[in-house]
Amino acid sequence: MAVVLGAIADDFTGATDLANNLVRGGMRCVQLIGVPGQGLGELVEGTDEIDAVVIALKSRSCPPAEAVRDSLRALEWLRAEGARQLYFKYCSTFDSTDEGNIGPVSEALLERLEAPFTVMVPAFPANGRTVYQGHLFVGDRLLSESGMQHHPLTPMRDADLVRVLSRQSRYPVGLLPWSTLAQGAPAVSRQLEELTGQGVRQVICDTLDRNDLAVLAEATVDLPLVSGGSGLGQALPAQYRHRGWLGEVSAAGALAPASGSALVLSGSCSRATLAQVDAFLTRFPGFPLDPLMLAQGPEHLRQALAFARRHLAGGRPVLVYASAEAERVSRAQQALGRERAGELVEQALGELAVALVDEGVGRLVVAGGESSGAVVSALGVRALRIGEQIDPGVPWTQTTLAEHEAPLSLALKSGNFGGEDFFLRAFEVLP
Ligand code: ADP
Repeated sequence: MAVVLGAIADDFTGATDLANNLVRGGMRCVQLIGVPGQGLGELVEGTDEIDAVVIALKSRSCPPAEAVRDSLRALEWLRAEGARQLYFKYCSTFDSTDEGNIGPVSEALLERLEAPFTVMVPAFPANGRTVYQGHLFVGDRLLSESGMQHHPLTPMRDADLVRVLSRQSRYPVGLLPWSTLAQGAPAVSRQLEELTGQGVRQVICDTLDRNDLAVLAEATVDLPLVSGGSGLGQALPAQYRHRGWLGEVSAAGALAPASGSALVLSGSCSRATLAQVDAFLTRFPGFPLDPLMLAQGPEHLRQALAFARRHLAGGRPVLVYASAEAERVSRAQQALGRERAGELVEQALGELAVALVDEGVGRLVVAGGESSGAVVSALGVRALRIGEQIDPGVPWTQTTLAEHEAPLSLALKSGNFGGEDFFLRAFEVLP
C-alpha cells in the first residue's frame, strides 16, 4: 500500500498532534521535520508500511509568501510520494492574522492542485474546540474571549471564522451550517457543490461533536485537499478503510523495542510542566539549569553533564531542567534579555541531548515546543515514526540517527500537555 494521506502542518507540535490522531485511527504514520531533500525511501525503512506522512513546517507566523512557498514545496514532495489526499493542518484556534497565513496557503494549495474548493474544519470537540454558525468556541467561550485575543503573535479578536478567513482570502468564503450536517453526508456534498457554484473556494464547517466529524469525513474523503485542526484526522482513517485504501492494521503505533538509558530535558516553564518536574523530582534526580550561570561560561553545562552521566550510569532516569517559576524566569530575562535567556537554555538542552545520546541515552523526553525544536535540530532528526500516545496529543516517537545503530525513542511534549505524572509514566508505557 502507498501513502494515503499527506499532511502539511504549520508547526511542529501541531504536526505531532495530527499524526497522533492518525495513528489512533489505525494509520502508520511518519512525521518529517521540514521538506526533505530526498525521497521517503531514503529517510525511513519499510516505506510500504507507511500510510500517512505529516510534514512539519514553521509556517504559522512567518510572512505569508514564505508560508506559501514552503507549503507548495511540501505539497510537491507529498504528491511525488503518491499521497491520495492532502491535508493542510493548522491550529484548532485558527491562529492567524488578517494577512494570513491560513487563507493564502490554502488558496495556493488549491490552485496548484487545480481543485475547485476545500473544507476548513478547525474543530477538535475532544479538546473543547467547536464551531457553530461559523463561530469558533473554546469550551463555552467564543474564541475572541478565550484568552486567544491576547496571543503575542496571532491574537484572535474575532470568533466569526467566515469573516476572519475572508480577510485573508482572495475568493469568497462559505459556511456549511450544522443544520446541513445534521442531514448527513449526501446533503453536505450537495451544499458544498452549491457553494462552489457560487464561486466559494473555502468552506468553514460547523462541527459540534465526533459524529459531525464522521459526517464531514464521509463527505470529503474524495476531495484532493482538506484542511483543519487535528480533529478531522480522527475521522478520515475510517473512510479510507471503507474505500479499501487502508488495510487492517492491528497496531499502527507499534515501534521497535526501546533501549538505552532514560533522560528528560525540560525547557518549558508552563504550569503543567512545572508540576511534572516537581512530581519527577520526588522520585528521581534532577539538575536545575540556570540561564544566568550558562551565560558565565561553559562550567555550568559541564556540571549538568557530569551530574547526568553519574546518575545515568546508575541506570536511573535523570532530569535536567531550566523550567522555573515566572519570577525566576523574569529575573533571567531582565539580566540577559528574553531572547538571549531562551537561546542559552535551548542551546544547552541541544548540547546535552547530543552528548548524552552519543553516550547511550535511548529514551528521551523533551518538554516545551521551542525546546523540542532545539533538541530535534541539534540531534539532526529528520523523520519520526509515530508510536502510541502517552497522554492526549503526545505520542512516543522513534527515529534513527546517522551513525547510531539503535533507534532513539523520543517524546516531544508541548508545554501545557500531559498529566502531572507525565515524566514518570512516559517511561513506564514505553515497551
Ligand atoms: P512551552 O511549550 O511551554 O511554550 P517552550 O520550550 O516552547 O515551552 O518555550 C519556553 C522558552 O523559555 C524557551 O525558549 C526556553 O529556552 C525558555 N526558558 C526556559 N527556562 C528558562 C529560564 N529559566 N529563564 C528564561 N528562559 C527560559
